[in-house]
Amino acid sequence: MVDLIDTIVYAGRIKDKSALMSSSSGGAFTALSDFFLKNDNAVVAAIYNYENHMTEFQMILDEKQRERAKGSKYMQSKPGYIYREAYRWLMENPKKELLFVGMGCQSDGFRKFTEIKGIRDRVYIVDIICHGSPSPKLWKEYAESIQRKDGKITYLTFKDKRNGWKSPTAYVKVNGAEKPIKDYVKVFYNRCALRPSCYECPYATTERKTDMTIGDFWHIEATIPDFYDPNGNSLFLIHTKRGEELFEKIKGDMDYRLSNTTQCWQANLEAPTKKSEQREEFWSDYQKKGIDFVMKKYGTVPMKTRIKNKLLKIIGGVRTK
Ligand SMILES: Cc1cc2nc3c(=O)[nH]c(=O)nc-3n(C[C@H](O)[C@H](O)[C@H](O)COP(=O)(O)OP(=O)(O)OC[C@H]3O[C@@H](n4cnc5c(N)ncnc54)[C@H](O)[C@@H]3O)c2cc1C
Repeated sequence: MVDLIDTIVYAGRIKDKSALMSSSSGGAFTALSDFFLKNDNAVVAAIYNYENHMTEFQMILDEKQRERAKGSKYMQSKPGYIYREAYRWLMENPKKELLFVGMGCQSDGFRKFTEIKGIRDRVYIVDIICHGSPSPKLWKEYAESIQRKDGKITYLTFKDKRNGWKSPTAYVKVNGAEKPIKDYVKVFYNRCALRPSCYECPYATTERKTDMTIGDFWHIEATIPDFYDPNGNSLFLIHTKRGEELFEKIKGDMDYRLSNTTQCWQANLEAPTKKSEQREEFWSDYQKKGIDFVMKKYGTVPMKTRIKNKLLKIIGGVRTK
């Protein structure tokens, strides 16, 4: 068992500017994983597979492979046999340690597994703040539909920061050209496509049993304005003594500020995402009419609304979605 402490909160971001730009938030994952990889230890994280269009957990032993784990993938990832593989690796390398990074549900599952197996003191467990994850089948069908029409997807990003951290650009690369995936992102945010368990998520809180939680430090421009960086800001919630030790180990690579749970408040630290009233209709449409139909119906803004929004922008009114 690992001792829980009162949650300690930091805002932080990695000092290395290119690592910051290629991370979704403030590069917390890179700072954490660097520490393990540089010391010849292992990392477990979720990597996107361009062959089957699924996100899958893998053992990571070098920086090249770690780069493949970077970036938020808006779909439920598959643990596969990773618990077993991590256990085997720890047994084969009795002097080494392992960092596990996953969503709240996945990391807490791993925590329980390590306690049962008696290896909790050999792992550091980090979880990620989560709005909820859509069914992996939805993304797979979406990606396959793009490939049927346009060709092989060779790159995917949901959070390119060319327009800054607060206005991420989401696209796939097909035949060397960028193709926006705004419709899928709209469906992700409109709360229709999340898995049923996400609407009842018990991890939507600042109190958790992992060593550390990471995420975006939303609203930092208002709550800690002199620490805000338009290129990305991470939130760290530290829950255990081990989590404190871990932050000590990486803080040299970070700019950071001590904060609190009021400054870092965001909806998914208080309650799970609410189910959309359109959810049943969305899945019924999907079953009957398929992926392209639901992306058009739920993932685009109708022409009438777009014209109305343009007019409202001109006269300074409030836009509708
Ligand atoms: C589905 C989803 C919903 C999110 N919702 C919120 C939210 O509501 N509020 C918030 O503050 N932050 C949210 N995040 C987290 C945020 O987008 C960043 O992923 C996080 O802050 C880490 O950023 P980074 O700069 O440290 O690391 P990056 O280098 O960008 O690393 C990303 C890390 O996330 C992991 N990861 C990415 N996609 C998945 C996945 N599908 N399953 C498991 N692990 C994955 C990678 O393995 C890696 O460990 C969400 C992320 C995802 C994937």
